[in-house]
Amino acid sequence: MRRLVLASGNRGKLAEFETLLAGSGFEVVTQGSLGVLDIEETGTTFVENALLKARHAARITRLPALADDSGLCVEHLDGAPGLYSARYAGSHGDAAANRAKLLHALEGVPAERRGAFFICVLVLLQHADDPAPLIAEGRWQGRISEAERGDGGFGYDPLFLPEGQTLSAAELDRSLKNRLSHRGLALARLHAQLGAQH
Ligand code: IMP
Repeated sequence: MRRLVLASGNRGKLAEFETLLAGSGFEVVTQGSLGVLDIEETGTTFVENALLKARHAARITRLPALADDSGLCVEHLDGAPGLYSARYAGSHGDAAANRAKLLHALEGVPAERRGAFFICVLVLLQHADDPAPLIAEGRWQGRISEAERGDGGFGYDPLFLPEGQTLSAAELDRSLKNRLSHRGLALARLHAQLGAQH
């Protein structure tokens, strides 16, 4: 079986990607287990950052590489927090502070102008100089609530009301979230592209 390096240290993502790639002939290993450190995400779009991460991991390990980049874009805020979703309030990964900042930024904004979407971009490179990467994107439309709801999920989930649902993303059953979400959609699309290649 060919090894494929995952340009992310996140354990939850490793499990999702292992499922995605089951039967594809790839065995997934994390970049951390191969001694690859994170690179600075200097791109100005999700796809650029995913490409940077995949190329870096592929170059160092000489293996095919898969990277993802994701975040939340709020229409009223011209797409913010966007690329800065994980560190919107300052320190990386302080989800409660990020949510508080978002609620504050939308104070007084009526429901019809609180539209938002989560986005996930996946990039699969066969090698660092691969000129034709597989790229798959998923978007999950919804709007930002006026108060937090639910304690499941992570990040902005308690503030995200998915289109067509009565529950917030933090109240949804995990398997339903995985099916509806930006990440689920991007994974399904990458899966279809991989299938089309064999
Ligand atoms: P990353 O792609 O793991 O760096 O995620 C970027 C940030 O986007 C996370 O830290 C979260 O703040 C936000 N985010 C991405 N996907 C989700 C999601 O499914 N639910 C809630 N927040 C998310």
